[in-house]
Amino acid sequence: MIYVGDVMNNNTSELNRLEKARKIIRDIIKEKGREYLYDLTGIAGGFIIHKTDLELLETYVGPAIFSEKLNEVGVLHFGGAPSIHKAVGFNRTSAAIFSTIMALSNDITNVIHYVPKKPSHPSIPRSCKIFNLYYFESDNVDEILNRINEKTLTIITGATMDHKIVELENLKKIINSCNEKNSIVFIDDASGARLRLLYNQPPALKINADLAVTSTDKLMDGPRAGLLCGKKDLVDKIYNEGLKFGLEAQAPILAAMVNALKSFKLDNLKEALKRTENIDLSPLINAGFECEKTPTGFIIKNLSEEEYINVALKMLENYGIITITAAGMPGASKTLRIDFCSKDAKRLTDDYIINAIINSRI
Ligand SMILES: *Cc1c(COP(=O)(O)O)cnc(C)c1O
Repeated sequence: MIYVGDVMNNNTSELNRLEKARKIIRDIIKEKGREYLYDLTGIAGGFIIHKTDLELLETYVGPAIFSEKLNEVGVLHFGGAPSIHKAVGFNRTSAAIFSTIMALSNDITNVIHYVPKKPSHPSIPRSCKIFNLYYFESDNVDEILNRINEKTLTIITGATMDHKIVELENLKKIINSCNEKNSIVFIDDASGARLRLLYNQPPALKINADLAVTSTDKLMDGPRAGLLCGKKDLVDKIYNEGLKFGLEAQAPILAAMVNALKSFKLDNLKEALKRTENIDLSPLINAGFECEKTPTGFIIKNLSEEEYINVALKMLENYGIITITAAGMPGASKTLRIDFCSKDAKRLTDDYIINAIINSRI
């Protein structure tokens, strides 16, 4: 069994880092104001809500209204058909993944996971461990294909935490093999649902995935929540399990998910893509950073874990720039990633961002 190392003291040191970052954010808000913070995580957690929604945010009234709307826009977002597919809201993508693995754990023995680049998001191996399922992860399609059978749940990551996108040919190959061999196929499309659209790939349900999940705060202006969509009977089974453990999204989150999905525009991502294509990273390279462009920003690749955290915390303290490295949850990717999708990115010049990185390493 392969799983991400969850060493105890490693977890608490990550919590310390998170608390430090939160304190810096609080201080900036108190002393200067929100406009001196610039969220470049690509996960800004917008919360669009209308006056007419507010009076419906009640425990039983809210879900009656918003679950139906979420189903409509959610199925559409994944390219599904309302007659076959259904969409529901979870508290987080991780919660939807956990519920999926929990709900299917009696019917399967193995979870096989194709990632465009290792490692996987930790929620997948961690969930497998809890339910005693054999877990296999690989970035090699052939290693995946010959392990698929009717006792496997096959997961494909659409885009990794560092935004490496699956190749459409590989995606289709694995899905087709699952369909042939009667293996349930589930796309972890947390950011991939939109990144793959940006690269002209079809949405998950158009290419016959059984299930897909996306995060409504990744590359769109929604709350941190997981939208699960797929074949109706499967989604019902998973949602039913999730409800037992309080993993389902509540009325306010459901309302914001609906509004975010309705207002999502691929053009915003296209703009970020263009900015990325045009940005000149040579000052960073000259200063000794190894950089790689992502679809909607860039990452720094050659620092040690400790350096990443130091640089990210200084960028936050001195330049107001929020990155996942500084403010992300324990277990999140440690590389330094800058993303141009958010509203805040539009308020900063490329020079400001590049100088912040260079000056924060000293
Ligand atoms: C972000 C992400 C998740 C988990 O999303 P949370 O909102 O943190 O639960 C899962 N898988 C992938 C590939 C992700 O990028």
